[in-house]
Amino acid sequence: MLDKREINEVLNILEQTYPKAHCELEYRTPFQLLVATMLSAQSTDKTVNKVTEKLFVEYPTVHDFLRLGQGELEQEIKQIGLYRNKAKNILAMCKELVNRFGGEVPSNLDDLMSLPGVGRKTANVVLSNAFGIPAIAVDTHVFRVSNRIGLAAARDVEETERQLMGNIPKDKWSAAHHWLIWHGRRICDARKPKCEMCPVSLHCRYYNK
Ligand code: SF4
Repeated sequence: MLDKREINEVLNILEQTYPKAHCELEYRTPFQLLVATMLSAQSTDKTVNKVTEKLFVEYPTVHDFLRLGQGELEQEIKQIGLYRNKAKNILAMCKELVNRFGGEVPSNLDDLMSLPGVGRKTANVVLSNAFGIPAIAVDTHVFRVSNRIGLAAARDVEETERQLMGNIPKDKWSAAHHWLIWHGRRICDARKPKCEMCPVSLHCRYYNK
């Protein structure tokens, strides 16, 4: 793992490289972000946005979703991978949201993770983007990029999250999550990282080993 000084340098470089990094899923409410994030597993944000552009106009709220049956929701989201399972989880999540939380998306990790189909990553995405609560959602990009660079040295996502929370100042957690995703999508590709044009190559453990 990099030392504190190098970690801060890397964070500064990433901040300067991606000053406008933000969540690339489109949504207008916490509920819509929760649904969009559940749809995005193993799918691209672009595909999800294409589907939700129409879906959220026709069915903007949890109550609208509950009027949809499994078959109807499947039809609406069938362009997205694993759509049958996702439709099942989303409808189960909607029922719980209404039964246990008055139809409002809860703003704490434990309650979010108690909803069907909502894992730690999804819960952290919602906390940080919909509620402005500092959180680091470790998805495949954040896991790969942070461990390659040396912002973390962990074998699993939970340990990566724990180490990143220790290594990154709390007021930068949410932004750093976006910097790492943007870096993973644009430069630090899983199969072919573009190390020759990477602004953090000087510090990167993977590149310099
Ligand atoms: Fe990724 Fe290469 Fe940059 Fe390291 S130097 S962060 S491996 S692109």
